[in-house]
Amino acid sequence: MSVYSFSQLQVFHQCARKYQYKYVDKIKETEFESSPDLILGHSVHKALENLYNQINVFITPTSEAVVADFQKIWTEELAEATKEKPLQMKGNNTLEDYQRRGEQYIKSYYSKHQPFQNIKIIATENMMTFDLDEKGEKKFRGVVDRIDKEGDTFVINDYKTNKNLPPEDKQEYIEQLTLYGLGIHQNYGKYFKHLKARLHYLHFDLEDEWEITQERLDWVTQKYGQMISEIEDKRFHYNMGDSKVFPPQENSYCKYCEYMSICPLWAHLKFDDEVVAGELGEKTIKGLVDEYVQFAKQESEAKGQKESLKEILVDYLEKKWLLKLFGNTAKISASQTENLSIKDKDTLFAKLQELGIVNDVLEIDRFKLQKLVKDGKIDPNKLGSTIEKKSSWTLRGSKN
Ligand code: SF4
Repeated sequence: MSVYSFSQLQVFHQCARKYQYKYVDKIKETEFESSPDLILGHSVHKALENLYNQINVFITPTSEAVVADFQKIWTEELAEATKEKPLQMKGNNTLEDYQRRGEQYIKSYYSKHQPFQNIKIIATENMMTFDLDEKGEKKFRGVVDRIDKEGDTFVINDYKTNKNLPPEDKQEYIEQLTLYGLGIHQNYGKYFKHLKARLHYLHFDLEDEWEITQERLDWVTQKYGQMISEIEDKRFHYNMGDSKVFPPQENSYCKYCEYMSICPLWAHLKFDDEVVAGELGEKTIKGLVDEYVQFAKQESEAKGQKESLKEILVDYLEKKWLLKLFGNTAKISASQTENLSIKDKDTLFAKLQELGIVNDVLEIDRFKLQKLVKDGKIDPNKLGSTIEKKSSWTLRGSKN
């Protein structure tokens, strides 16, 4: 049985193919690269974890001691990350800038929350495994930064070191902490009456807090339960040989994806140009791509021009009461048909039924049927021999 994490399901949500490569095929990503942002986030989390672990045994370190602890962790983590090669820096920020940010976060946090009295800490950096369904078939795991007890309320605390303030209703955070709330309910449910989530935006000295209600818990349980069912269904079909069941989904994170070089959407970028022989003689693939896109562009421009010409010619032949027009080398024959449009579908349907001809005008829309299959609303296997599967390709051109 697989145990799922929030980040794992986020990968699936972002791109099913990436999920396949990472969690089904288990293709190793290239060596993990650390970054100043990661080191900053980790060092701040660790320093706050140490602070609360001390408070939990009734020792309150000074603000200076907590900052010094952060500096020590930062220095050690930085040394470890830069053992082999220097870190990639973003923009004009220096390592000193990152370190100063971390020190400032700790100082502001400390001064806001001191003297840390009457606080009951249930856990810090708490790894939980819990169930997303009653049968215990859908397992989930996650790490909570800190759980506090405030009267009859348990509070899930999560520290954020982002330099950009996300919108207040950032869905991802709400869903993640609500899921962890489910784990806290399962582990400590009888010890509290209310459950809250609290985000600490350390860069802005801001806190965002909300109650994790039963309604929210039901909603995430259902949403993520369905997502896990979908993944397990896809895994089953993949193991049965359906290699297309996890489709690639182009998204804004593709450029950071470790699997670009094997992803069908991007792998060709790394190919050498190849020569192929066909009806058009010997051509290179890159040349053919450019030619195809050029033709597609000309075709769509020609279609637009054809429509404009049609409008002028129809206007002309209507004014002159003509049905044929002659050019120097070609002629056009014109005919007019009356097209019906439907204004009241239900009444029309009833009238056609009355006339006993409804079946003559009803046609099953193949595209709508295809969409129902694609959206998983119909299992094509249940339609038996009433349908036949044929694959076709569409080529859409655009600029590189
Ligand atoms: S490159 Fe993009 S589309 Fe391909 S697997 Fe990665 S995220 Fe998915």
